[in-house]
Order: sequence, then C-alpha cells, then structure tokens
Amino acid sequence: MATVSGSILRVAVPSPLDKTFDYLPPVGSDPAPLQPGVRLRVPFGRRHVVGFLLELAPDTALDPALLRPALKVLDTEPLLPADVLALLRWAQHYYHHPPGEVFATALPVLLRQGEAATLPELLPRWRLTAAGETALAAAALRRAPAQRALLDHLAQFPAGATAAELRGLTRNSSTVLRALQAKGWIVAAAPDLAAPDTIALPPVPPPPLNPAQAAAVAAVSAALDRFQVFLLDGVTGSGKTEVYLRLIEAVLARGQQALVLTPEIGLTPQLLARCRERFPGPLAVLHSGLSDRERLTAWLLGRAGQARIVAGTRSAVFAPLQAPGLLIVDEEHDTSYKQQDGFRYHARDLAIMRARYLGIPVLLGSATPALESLYNAQRGRYQTLCLPERVGGGREPAIEILDVRRQPLTEGLSAPLLARMRAHLARDEQVLLFLNRRGFSPVLLCHECGWLSLCQNCDARMTLHLRARRLICHHCGDSRPVDQICPSCGSVDLRPIGQGTERLDAALRGAFPDIDRARMDRDSTRRRGSLETLLADIHTGGRRLLLGTQMLAKGHHFPEVTLVGIIDADQGLYGVDFRASERMAQLILQVAGRAGRAEKPGTVLIQTHHPDHPLLRVLATQGYPAFAAAALAERQLTMLPPFAHQALLRAEASDAQQAHAFLDTARALAEPHASGVELLGPAPAPMERRAGRYRAHLVLLAEQRPDLHRLLHIWLAQLRAAPRQAHLRWSLDVDPAELY
Ligand code: ADP
Ligand code: ZN
Ligand code: ZN
Repeated sequence: MATVSGSILRVAVPSPLDKTFDYLPPVGSDPAPLQPGVRLRVPFGRRHVVGFLLELAPDTALDPALLRPALKVLDTEPLLPADVLALLRWAQHYYHHPPGEVFATALPVLLRQGEAATLPELLPRWRLTAAGETALAAAALRRAPAQRALLDHLAQFPAGATAAELRGLTRNSSTVLRALQAKGWIVAAAPDLAAPDTIALPPVPPPPLNPAQAAAVAAVSAALDRFQVFLLDGVTGSGKTEVYLRLIEAVLARGQQALVLTPEIGLTPQLLARCRERFPGPLAVLHSGLSDRERLTAWLLGRAGQARIVAGTRSAVFAPLQAPGLLIVDEEHDTSYKQQDGFRYHARDLAIMRARYLGIPVLLGSATPALESLYNAQRGRYQTLCLPERVGGGREPAIEILDVRRQPLTEGLSAPLLARMRAHLARDEQVLLFLNRRGFSPVLLCHECGWLSLCQNCDARMTLHLRARRLICHHCGDSRPVDQICPSCGSVDLRPIGQGTERLDAALRGAFPDIDRARMDRDSTRRRGSLETLLADIHTGGRRLLLGTQMLAKGHHFPEVTLVGIIDADQGLYGVDFRASERMAQLILQVAGRAGRAEKPGTVLIQTHHPDHPLLRVLATQGYPAFAAAALAERQLTMLPPFAHQALLRAEASDAQQAHAFLDTARALAEPHASGVELLGPAPAPMERRAGRYRAHLVLLAEQRPDLHRLLHIWLAQLRAAPRQAHLRWSLDVDPAELY
C-alpha cells in the first residue's frame, strides 16, 4: 500500500542487521524539507536510538499502519555531503556490510550519540600582545623553552591560533598559555571570520622544485578539475612531501580544501609539522588519540570549511569537506589503511572512489607502492609520477645480504655485522638496528624436557618481558609471572630462546658500553612524550645506537645514520601469508630509507639464513621495482591478488568443530552460485586458536570481480537469514589484507 510520495523515512539504524528501517515522519511534522543525511531519533525495539536518514521513499514494503513515527529530527541540514553519502552506500554494497555500522563509522562518536552538530561558538584565538613582542625581541624566556616556543609560533601568525592548534607544540600547552597570559604577553580573542586566515604569506619559503618534482606537481595541477589517480612513486627522501605541499598550496589558492590521509598519525608527525609550518590557519587532524570532543570539533571544522587542510588516519576518508579539491594518501601501501574488524574497508581504495564521485584527483604516494597499485598503474588506471632520486642527488643506501648460516651469533648479531657497527661508530656516525619483535625473547624453553612457554588461550608462545618480569602473549594480551622452575619437570634450567628488542638492547650495552643507545618500541615509548624525547635525543646526536621495531621505520628521518642492520629477515620470507614477502620488502626499504643523506649514503646489512631466496636477492641487487615485478609475476602464476579478487569468510567458535561445520554449510550454500568463483577450504586459520577461540576460514577467489560480488550478494543474504548459532561468530572480509 502506497502513501503520499516521499513520506516514508528510510533510516540506517545502529544495528548489526543488514537492512534499513522505515519510519513515518515525526508526528505533526512536515517531511518535505527533510533531506537525506540528517539524523533522527527513532524508537528501535524498546530503545531510542540515533538513526541516519538515507532516503525519503514513496512507499514501504511493510504495512504503513505498522510503521512507527520517528521521534525527532536532530539536524536542520545534512551532516554528510552528497559525495560521502554516495561513498558510504557504495562501500556498504562493496563490502557487503550492514548499513547501520557503515554509517556509524563515518560519524564521530558524539554525533552518533545525538550531540548537536554545531561548532563550539567560534574558538578563541591566542595572539601576541605588544608586550609579548617586546619580550620575544628581548630574548626573554631563555630558561622557559615551552613558553618561548609558543611565543615564537604566535609571532608568525598575526591572525592568532587556537589552543587546539598550539597543543602539539609543547607539553601542557594550556598551562603554558595561562602563564603567558598572566604575564600579559598573549591575549585570547574571538576570531575574525570576515577575514579568515589567508595563505598570502607563507612563513616558510618553499625550496625550488627539482625537475622530477616540478613534473609531478604540473601533472596533478593540470588535472585539478577532473578525477584522476596519480601514483607518486619516489624513494624515501626524494621529495614526495614537498610535492604534496605544493599541490596543497595550489588547491588552497583555488579556495578549496585538501584531505591528507596518513598511516598512524603519531608516527608520521613530520608531515603534519611541515603542513603547519607551511600553511598558517587551522589544520584539522583526525586520529584515534583525540578525545571525543576534539574529534568532533576537528570534524566540524573541516565540514564548515574553516579548516582548509584536513589530515587524519583511516576513517578520515569519510570526513566531510565543504570544498574538496584534492585527496592525498601518504604511504599508500601501509596496511593500517585496512580496517581489520567490523566494517573492513580499505581507506586508500575508498579515497579513490570518493575522488571519483567528487571529480577531483587523488594522489597516492609511496617509496614502496603496494603491488595492487603498481598493477593498476601498469594497466593505465593510475598515472605514475616518478621521483627517481633523492633530493640533492644522494645515492640510496646499498643493500648487502649477510649470510649468517653456520656463523656464530652473539645474541643474534653476527661477527661481520658487529665489525661494521664498530667501524661506523668509530667514525662518530649513527647505527640503526631493526628487529620487529618486542620483549626480551619470544619464548622460554626448558633445557631439561623441552617445555615451552605457550599461551593457554592461543596457538602461540608467550614472550618473555624481563623488565616487567612477565610472560606476555602478544596475541591475546594474557600475561603471568615468569616461571622460575619448569612447570612440567621442575628443572630450574629455563632458557630464553631468540631475541627481542629488550634483549638486543641489553646485548648492545655489553658490546658497546660507551655508546648511548635509543630503543624504540611499544614498550619503551609507552609514557606520553617519551617518543618525542627519544627522537630529540637522536637528532642532537646524543644517542648513536638506535634499535627498534617498525616504529623506527615510519615517518622519521635520521640523516646521521649510515649503517642499518636488519637483524632477522627470515620471518618475512616464508610467512604463511602470500603477502609476507611484499611486506618484508616494504619494511626493509622503509627502514633503509631512514638512513643517510646526500654526502653520507648509508649501507643496509640484512642478516638471513636464506641468502639465496630469489625475491630477497632481487631486492638487494636491483631494488624495489625489480622486486615488485618478480613478485607480481609470481602472483600472476598462482592467480593471487591483484590478478584475482579475494574474499574471506571467517568463523570463530569456542570449539573447532562448530566453526568448521558452519563453513561447510556456508560452502554448500555458495556452490550453486559459484560460477567464476573458486572456493578454497574451509581451513584452520594460520593461528587456529586465539584468545580461547578456534578460527577457520573459507577463501573465495575470482578472476572477475563481478562474479565474486554476485555470489556474495546472494550468499550473504542466505547466511544472514540462517538462525544465529550461539557461541559462533562469523564475518566477511572483502579484499582481505591478512589471512589470519
Ligand atoms: P620524501 O617525502 O619523499 O621522503 P621529502 O619531501 O621529505 O621526501 O624531502 C626530503 C628532504 O629534502 C626534506 O628535508 C625536504 O625539505 C628536502 N627537499 C625536498 N624537495 C626539495 C627541493 N626541491 N630542494 C631542496 N630540498 C628539498
Ligand atoms: Zn622441563
Ligand atoms: Zn594468547
């Protein structure tokens, strides 16, 4: 039965159900002015929830008499612009994920809870007073570096800066601001919105571009009015960031905004610092370290167009913009762009879709592009822009493979590596060691009976953390005190086997007692501000021996480092995941890229027990492009992505049988629709038991994407319609990044 045209509200409701819900307009209200994208408070079961209006439908499949009216309209205008709404709908279908969860992902928590979408009335801006300028000129505050830093910063911005913008400059910035205010050196005033910050006078003059950079900037600048994907492929230090900055400048000059996606933001502070330095005016940053309130404010600033640059991690791809002109995805190969639970979207891929809806270019940058991206470039879908050389003409570090078979290893370090370290340190240079394993040792072994410190919840070993005096499982987080005697035979001969960063650090203290070390991993940088202190120490040359996990590999430059040691490359060579070697190559080059500069090129030494591994050899002798070509050829032979398209149905249950039985049934349901799709499994996940649950999966592989999605569409409806089983959870992952 049809009702008046357009009077049924089709709403995404926060629920795991894969459907939308229909409501009537609130009693006594006129639905005509309602627009898709506004929030509504609606009754849902016995609760009242915040829903998201997707469309005004002319009719409903249900009996309209049974529909409940929405309670309240929460917004006068759509929260999300049309391009984001379109993107979310597309993503909902592509990832076959319930609309309520998809739309929830796009909104800051406070908006999901029904908070008003209004910016806190005009954030006050801090400005330097005349007295402040005098103090600055008189070089007061020599002994108060934090106050001095804020004054210095404000001196560059006549329009002032908000407390939020100043927060990154020092610790306890609000205390420091109050101290300066008490001295009368700064004042807070409401901003003058009639004269928003302009980019007329960049405080830092940009360097002239080299020819490769200029060509890249010209290519993207020429495409600012249309959709196009550019792959900026340039080794570390080749000036990619400078290209981003120039393009952002061009976009801002057109009165538009730029959206910059980065991997984990805490780890890429340099990009943000350079944006801040180059462009006065608000930069909205969206990442998981913000409070809900800060996040909402940043989000609204971008939406209102007050922040001309919006930067953020994965979910910032959904950030609404008032006048988007360019999307940038830095380190596009980084796996943190793929959400690993719930709504498993890939932010890089969605950025491309969004740019398409907007009709604007998107720039993907990397020194080690994902094989998917290289393949797309080869097929002409992306235009490649190459920055082949380091700025200043410095060579890229040479890579040498160190065969450690039959070599005596001292705490994991071979004699040749130690000798080379000594030589570099003797020349007052810095040395960086990379070991992607934190803790002291990855397992504790009983030398009498062979007992191993296994996790009781996972098919995994518990890592020994000596400082913390605990065995910790890195997969489920479970921990317990370190055994003093073997739980199995009572022997006291328990030995830590293998190296983690904590142990390597101790070994280096022994081997190089006079050299100050800096260890960078999740354990050593837990305290707020400790990473910053460590980095500052490294840059002033105070610490010359650096060691760490992949935390070292991202976003920082260490120009004084001339030797990089990769302690153990073998983990990545024969990993269960077909992407293991790609990840290892990217990580090695990321670490290598931290080192050296024009006058002081670096060397990278890779310790391995598999010196003849073909991909490792190609990487070392011919570099990433040749590695990528070889790896792509292998993928083509085996019909793996990007030559085929994958989806993964994961199941987990408290007993293995239940998970397998579910997947067997699922497979049987899929078979009739599987033309063009290969079904592999069910098989146990590489780590079958994790956090006490058994995990298994079914892989779907199709040469043609439409075949896969046709099957998924029918199949998921069937799976979702089946009665829910207690203790069993399942999920679908389209384009999985990891097969765990
Ligand atoms: P990437 O992002 O590719 O690692 P960056 O853009 O950070 O490279 O550039 C590396 C260094 O070279 C930075 O210190 C940057 O300021 C400097 N730089 C970049 N482009 C130029 C240029 N054209 N002239 C001089 N210095 C440059
Ligand atoms: Zn024992
Ligand atoms: Zn565990």
